[in-house]
Amino acid sequence: MTHDPSGSTSTDRRTFLQAGAVAAAAAATAGHAAVAQEPGQEKAEGAEKALSIPRRPLGKTGIDVTMLNAGTGRGAGIQRILRYAYSQGIRCFDTSQRYQSEGDFKQWFQQEPAVRKEIFVVTKDLPKAPAEIMPMLDQRLAAMGTDYVDLFFVHSFGDNHPLDEAIAYVKSKEFKQAADAVKKAGKARLVGISTHHRNRAQILQAAAEGGIVDAIMVQYSPWLDKDAPLNKALDACHKAGIGLISMKQLAGHFLGTGQQKNMLDEVKEKVPMLAERDLTPFQALLHAIWTDERIASSCVSMTNTDQIRLNSEAARRFTPLKAADLKSLRDADLAHGPTLCADCDGRCAHAAGTAAALGDLTRFLTYHEHHGLRSKARECYDALPAEARDWRGADLEAARAACPSKLDFARLLPEVDRRLA
Ligand code: SF4
Repeated sequence: MTHDPSGSTSTDRRTFLQAGAVAAAAAATAGHAAVAQEPGQEKAEGAEKALSIPRRPLGKTGIDVTMLNAGTGRGAGIQRILRYAYSQGIRCFDTSQRYQSEGDFKQWFQQEPAVRKEIFVVTKDLPKAPAEIMPMLDQRLAAMGTDYVDLFFVHSFGDNHPLDEAIAYVKSKEFKQAADAVKKAGKARLVGISTHHRNRAQILQAAAEGGIVDAIMVQYSPWLDKDAPLNKALDACHKAGIGLISMKQLAGHFLGTGQQKNMLDEVKEKVPMLAERDLTPFQALLHAIWTDERIASSCVSMTNTDQIRLNSEAARRFTPLKAADLKSLRDADLAHGPTLCADCDGRCAHAAGTAAALGDLTRFLTYHEHHGLRSKARECYDALPAEARDWRGADLEAARAACPSKLDFARLLPEVDRRLA
């Protein structure tokens, strides 16, 4: 049993959804961190009351990070977004070579040099071989106008290698040497991988065995089955002291068919906890994720100040969800037809008797429709081989029945063709 901060006890969610131990430690961490002040905060925030976001340990790195991480995957011109996120207490920021936001960081650091040391900066690039990490990191540092980042990720790990090569890479002597070299040079405090690969459970298991990576950013869902390979891999990484950052967790939820406003009202009716805690469905999703204490921080791409305010407020008000509340939130989410492939081994395609990459196709549609990443969505779609795009003849009802997220392929795949083909 785990202690619930409301005063009651709740059944450990190990028995219900997933194997991560939860709650008590997370609540303690949140409570402790919520009162922490940031050095130099007054200077950067003027006379406004300083806000803070609870922090959690990033694995066994010895570094605590804010539970909410501002993703910047929306291109250049995000000065206002960065500064507003900072004013809300967010101290973890995520960019990459691909996002075009590095220039905004550079400008911010030039105008407010004190900020650099107060935030945890994550960037990423695509080194095909470990030997490319140092020169690519040098380019990232120059683009951001800083001489170090806190965490460097090999981006989209697994997408640019066959799976066996990716697994060998993450455990290789060459990767260890490259990671040690950038840390020794003071250019990155930590090194890791980010992945949304369909076989990311195997990649995470290999990373846990390899003992090289400090942190992993991973596409995550709070509705993982206890026995899902990804759930077990997260356990292995957590046990190995790897810091875990979740990503791609809000887009594609509560946005199925129909008007979103009506849908959100319906969700509120179905999940009484939302009114009891005065949470929006999206805030509750974040609470569901943070109830998994293996997740140190959630990277959320926020494109306007309302999203930043609501998500920051959710972090400040976080208390772990009870198993019954997790279940009703999950049921409401699945009932409204999520669009994003959440996890797994591609059992949908197997059940449907097709070579089409059904999970990837729905993921790219989510990029297009919910992340606003239209060019990226089309590029990803174009990069798939023809047979991976051709879902005709597939048994889409069987695919839906097999999918843990119950994606409505019969509705989504024609949309994929319409928007991306
Ligand atoms: S079954 Fe669902 S979660 Fe698994 S790969 Fe297919 S779409 Fe993704």
